[in-house]
Order: sequence, then structure tokens, then C-alpha cells
Amino acid sequence: MHACIHRGATQIGGSCVELEHEGQRLIIDLGLPLDAPDNSRERLPASLDLNGLAPCAVVVSHPHQDHYGLLHHLPSGIPVVMGKAARRIVQAAAPFTGQVLPGLEGPELVDRVPLQVGPFRITPFLVDHSAYDAYALMVEAGGRRIFYSGDFRGHGRKSALLDRLLAAPPSPIHALLMEGTSLGRNEESPAYPTESELEAELTTCCRDTAGLVMVHASAQNIDRVVTLFRAAKKSGRTLVIDLYAAAILEAAGGKRLPQSDWEGVALYVPFRQRLQIKRQGCFDLLARHQSKRIYAEALAADPGRYALLFRPLHSNDLERAACLKGAAYVYSQWQGYWESGSYDDLKNWLEAQGIPRHSIHTSGHADVPTLRRFVTGLAPERLVPIHSFNPQEFSGLYDKVEWHADGERWAV
Ligand SMILES: [Zn+2]
Repeated sequence: MHACIHRGATQIGGSCVELEHEGQRLIIDLGLPLDAPDNSRERLPASLDLNGLAPCAVVVSHPHQDHYGLLHHLPSGIPVVMGKAARRIVQAAAPFTGQVLPGLEGPELVDRVPLQVGPFRITPFLVDHSAYDAYALMVEAGGRRIFYSGDFRGHGRKSALLDRLLAAPPSPIHALLMEGTSLGRNEESPAYPTESELEAELTTCCRDTAGLVMVHASAQNIDRVVTLFRAAKKSGRTLVIDLYAAAILEAAGGKRLPQSDWEGVALYVPFRQRLQIKRQGCFDLLARHQSKRIYAEALAADPGRYALLFRPLHSNDLERAACLKGAAYVYSQWQGYWESGSYDDLKNWLEAQGIPRHSIHTSGHADVPTLRRFVTGLAPERLVPIHSFNPQEFSGLYDKVEWHADGERWAV
């Protein structure tokens, strides 16, 4: 078996790896680079050939754009292998994000159930990550075995999955492709806070705030939505979600995940979302989720009763309906987006409204001690860096590191 990292050897985002055996090809992830100005065909990795012999399949490790955002450029008929809930999440998000919905037909990834695709035997391992239904993948062909970590962590709500994998790791692993998002980012405080620690912080924030608590997090970060729901419950508040969040939670589908009709949850549909619903004709979706619908007047009448899963498109409505007296804003996403100016309008708005800003967040990726634990536990013959801006730092994690550049073909 041969491998080629088409993109990801020296960057986070836009991941794409190809495996080849006896002339057959398997592609793992087809992501959009984080800094891409658009998702046009030019963003495909230069070394990836989609005109030659069709790959047996494309496997998507998890439903984040930097791993599937270029799928719509695939010629039709190539199976897309991904988790069942992951597939539903991508479908549910499309009407709201305006992104092109790619063809998504193909077999499912099921935790620890091997799947044969052409000459490749794929065993998925469900992992703890900020994306729901995320997998690491072990692929075997021609007696060789490669393990692709995907994106993972060990401090989320599913941290037991990492313990389980490392308690009985598959062996031997001839090459481990491991993500290294955190390398070079956090020298000073190596261990990241857990979701449970965030829950305690958010609970305190909810208790200490007289007015509305607005928590700015991605609805697709299901762990975080659960954290917020639990914090809201503990502090006697109702979690308020919009229709996008309701659709994503429904798509995730876990029986233990908060849903729009749950006790302690309410639906609020801001004006700009009402326009989206009209434009996309999502009336069935609204009908399905509006049993607990509330309006801005309710939020304004007693804002201290609610914790809102906030997005910037809510701000005008909240201001106009006078819901902001005594409010607090909690930023619960990667600090880099804030610092790069992505939310400057929001920042100015918060200042103009005199709303204090808190930052309560933890990474979706493994911290450095967890990366070390992962590679030591899997004990591969060699470690190949991927999904990192600092691949040289992998040498501090393990003694058998092998660097392969984007576009380079190498024997597993
Ligand atoms: Zn990623």
C-alpha cells in the first residue's frame, strides 16, 4: 500500500490523503483549507487527480468543512463513506449556511465495524472531538496497516473513547498519521480544560448575571450545546435555540441530546432566519420544531430566565426588542477567530450596548500531553505528521517520526 498526503502535511485544514494499492485508490477527507477565499474547483489539492481512474470511495472522518468542504467537486458515482449522523448534520446545515450540498451516497462508518472497500479494509473508531460522529480510521491493504487519527481530543464529553482505544490498541500499526493542531500553540498551559469544567464556569456565569446570558458557540459543537444546556438547567434557566440549532440537534439524533421539544428548551426564530426559512421553503422544519417557540417579547419580559445559544444574526432582534438589560455575552469558540477580526462588528456592538464579554471555551483538539499519550499508546512503527502548522514539533512526541511533504507518494 502507498500513501500520499495531498494536503495537510504542514497545515491545519484542507486535509486530503490518498491510499493506493494494486492500482486502486481510496481518498480520506476532501477538506476546504481554512483560509480559502471560496470553495471553487481551484481549491482542490494540486496533486489530486480526479480525472484518472475513479477512487473506490471517499471517506469523510467527520463533518467539519476542513475535512469535507470540497466534496462537491467529486465526479458523481463515487461513494462517500461517513457516519450516519455526520451525513444528516451536513444535510441539515446546508439550507442555513448556503453551502453547496455535495452528493453523499455511500456506506456508513460504524464504530469498530470493519468495512471492505475495494482492496481496503477500513475499521472506524469513534473519537471525542468538537464535531459530532467523528472517527479515526484504520486502513489495511496488502498486509500493511495505516492509522489515521482524524481530529480528536481527550477532554470532551466522550473522553472514555480515547481510554478505550488506548487500553487495547490495534497492533501492529505500520504508520500513524496523527493530527497536531495544538503543537506550538500552548507551551504555557499544556492541559486543556474539560467540558465539565466549562459547565461549572458557565453555571456560575448564569447565576451571576441578572439579564440574558448569550453564549456564542457553534450549534454543531454538540458537546458544547450539552454543556450549555446542563449549565442552564443547574442555574434555573431555559436554553433558547434557533431553528438552525434545532435542525442540527435533530440531525445528531442522540436520545440524550437536548431537542427543541424538551423540557428546559425553547425555540426562538430571529428575523434573518425567518427570511432564510421563506427563501429555502423550510416550513416543515419550522412546524416540527415550534412546540416550544417563544418570541422576543418573552425574552424581554424576563431575560434572566434564559440562556441563549447566540449567533451574531440575533443581535439586531435582541436590541430592537429591548432584551439586553443586564445581559452578558460569552464567547465560546476558538480565540483565533476573535483576534483575526472576524467578529469586529459584534465587538463594537457589544461595546456600544455596554455588555460585558466573558471567554469560556476549550479546544476541540488534543492537548500536547494527550497527543503524546495517543502515539505512545498506539506505538506505531512510524509517526507521520498531519493537520499541524508546526510539524517539526512532532519530534518532541515520539522518536520515530517520518515527515512526508504534500504530494509525495510513499510506501506504507
Ligand atoms: Zn480539522
